[in-house]
Amino acid sequence: MNREQANFAEQYAALERMPVSRRQALLTGGLMAISAFFGGKTKDLMGAEPDENAEHKKLRKLWEAQDPMYEKIAEGGMQKYFDNLPDKDKAFFSGEELHQMEGMCSCCSDERITQYTGKDSDKKMQLLRTPGSGMLLAMNRADKNPYAKEFIESTAKEQLELGVTVFTAHLGCGAAKAVFNARILFLRMQGDKAQADALEMRGPDAWAHDWANAVADRMRAMAQELGVKHMGKIRADFIEQKDFKGPHFGRGLAMLLGKDNYNAAYRGVPQWYVEHMGSNLESDIDHANVLRQIAFDHHHSVGEFFNEEPKNQFLLVPIAATRAQINIVVAHAEKRRKTLGTDKDKVRVDPILY
Ligand SMILES: [Zn+2]
Repeated sequence: MNREQANFAEQYAALERMPVSRRQALLTGGLMAISAFFGGKTKDLMGAEPDENAEHKKLRKLWEAQDPMYEKIAEGGMQKYFDNLPDKDKAFFSGEELHQMEGMCSCCSDERITQYTGKDSDKKMQLLRTPGSGMLLAMNRADKNPYAKEFIESTAKEQLELGVTVFTAHLGCGAAKAVFNARILFLRMQGDKAQADALEMRGPDAWAHDWANAVADRMRAMAQELGVKHMGKIRADFIEQKDFKGPHFGRGLAMLLGKDNYNAAYRGVPQWYVEHMGSNLESDIDHANVLRQIAFDHHHSVGEFFNEEPKNQFLLVPIAATRAQINIVVAHAEKRRKTLGTDKDKVRVDPILY
C-alpha cells in the first residue's frame, strides 16, 4: 500500500464517523417544515440545528482525499504510474493465492466492495465483477425484466460455466436500481399500473435480493442435472456490509480483459469500480457508461467534482496483458466517450498493459 491510498482509507473511515448523514439532514429538514407549520421550534424536536451542507462537505472531503493519487496519475499517465509501483504484482493474485481461495464469487462492480469471504470460513473468494452481478444486462431486453425465465436461465448457465459458487446482490446497488427504474417505466408505458405500483412498493433492494436467489436456485438445479461436483456449495448472498460503508467515491473504472485474478483490495491503485469485460464488448461498454453515470451522480456520489482538468477526469482504465486487447477496448471506449456531450471531456481513457 502506498502513502496516498493508506491516507484515503483512513480519511474515509474518519468521514464515516461523522454524525450527520444526508438522510438525517433531510429528516431534520422535514421535521423543521412540520414544526414550522405548527408554529413550533425545530430545536424542540431535534435538539440541534440541521447542517444542510454536511453531506456535501463529506463528498468533497472524499474527493480531496483521493487527489494526491489522481494528481500523480495525471502527471505521467496511468501506465507510468502503475509501472513505478514497487508492489504492483500485488494487484493480481498469484496462482498459489488463487489456489488457497474458496472458489469464485460473482459480485457487483461497486467500488465499495473490494473482497468477499465465504460465510462459513475466513477464506477469501476470487471475485467476478459485473454491474449488479449481471442484472444490468436485462437493459438489453425490451421488457427490462431480469426475472424473465430465459434471462434467469442464461445468467445461471453463464455463472455455472464460469465456476461461480456464490452469486451475490447487494444493498443500495445503483446498477440494480437502474434496471428497476427501467422496468417500472416499461410497465407504466404498457399501462400496467398495478404491477408498476407493486414493484415500486417493493423497492430495488428486495427486488435485487430475490433475483440473486432465483439465479442461484436455477444454478443449483442445473448443476444437479449436470452432476457438477460443487453443487452443494452453490448459494446466493446479499451483501449488506461493504468494505467502504458510505457514499460512492470512485473516480475511475478498471475494465479487466482476461484478468480474473485482479485484487480489488490492492491499494496501490485507486479504489475504483471494477468490471470484467466479457465476449460482448459493446454491451460491456454500455455498462461501463452506466457505472460512470453512477459516479457522476451529484447526490449519491462525488459527481459534481469531475471536470476537464486531467486530475479531475473520470478514468476508464482497460487492463490487459496484450497490446492488441488494449487497442480494441481503447478504440471502443474512445468512440463511446465522444458521444457523451458535455461529459466527454470529463472522461479519459488511460490503459494499463500488464
Ligand atoms: Zn451494485
